[in-house]
Amino acid sequence: MSAKVVLITGTSSGIGLESAIAAARAGWTTVATLRDPNRADALRDAADRAGVTLDIRQLDVTDPASVSAAIEGTLADHGRLDALINNAGAGHVGTIENESVEDVRRVMEVNFFGVVAATKAALPHLRASGGRLITVTSVGGVVGQPFNEAYCAAKFAVEGFMESLAPVVGRLGVTVSVVEPGAVATEFVTNIGLDPEQLFAAAGEYAEPLRNYVARTQGQFANAAQTPEQVAVTVIDALTAERPPFRLQTSEWARTFTGTKLADHDGSAVLTLTDAYLG
Ligand code: NAP
Repeated sequence: MSAKVVLITGTSSGIGLESAIAAARAGWTTVATLRDPNRADALRDAADRAGVTLDIRQLDVTDPASVSAAIEGTLADHGRLDALINNAGAGHVGTIENESVEDVRRVMEVNFFGVVAATKAALPHLRASGGRLITVTSVGGVVGQPFNEAYCAAKFAVEGFMESLAPVVGRLGVTVSVVEPGAVATEFVTNIGLDPEQLFAAAGEYAEPLRNYVARTQGQFANAAQTPEQVAVTVIDALTAERPPFRLQTSEWARTFTGTKLADHDGSAVLTLTDAYLG
């Protein structure tokens, strides 16, 4: 039987890059997508070092034509799609009084509608293969974090979307999981493109709590962050476990933190409840 095929979004760096390498190592035909093919060097180098082959393709989750082209191209070349890993995402720091509704909409475009678009395009093929739909959300998809209103709203939206979808497509053979990391040492913070001093200067009456939040977050990233390789282990668990749970935290810290909110750590109680609505 030919190897199973997984498509991953946002593999130019971080969790997506390491998940692509780990999936290929685990024997999957791995379609590693990135929005800008000129940013594929780190991915290619990592694949060379690991001695694995990747099928690298362009996919910008905010561009419907590129989502369709990557997924249809995968089907044309590999004949099947067994898993989609929605990993692409981007952070955002701010508070609503100091930003526009348009700013919030942009955060939703990448982190929420991007996931919706890739999921919609992949689902017919995942139904055909009895496949897996995995999305990297965040502990911020469960617990709202200060100065992360737009980002957490988008990640909450993704979690709600996937929790609603899981029992429905589960009836047709597709397994849905969300992966919830805490702080991870990737390009994530740099990619937000913040100049803290500029941010504080523009924060008005919010400057002091914002300073405190940024200092605490910097400490967390310096002292308690996971590596993207560690997070990729959980992503691959979701991909390969016989019966992965709906909700997977990537560390004990993330489990305790989300547990502050969730008594139902792995999502099985909610899904058992909502699945029963379907008769
Ligand atoms: P990262 O190194 O910044 O990786 C993010 C990836 O998403 C990059 O490859 C980036 O591509 C890609 N991306 C951004 N916008 C895109 C778009 N429109 N279309 C396609 N790809 C796009 O950060 P990371 O930590 O690995 O983040 C991966 C996922 O983990 C994200 O969903 C993030 O929200 C989540 N997460 C991260 C942390 C953390 O602390 N790092 C914690 C919890 C959850 P470019 O190179 O082109 O920008």
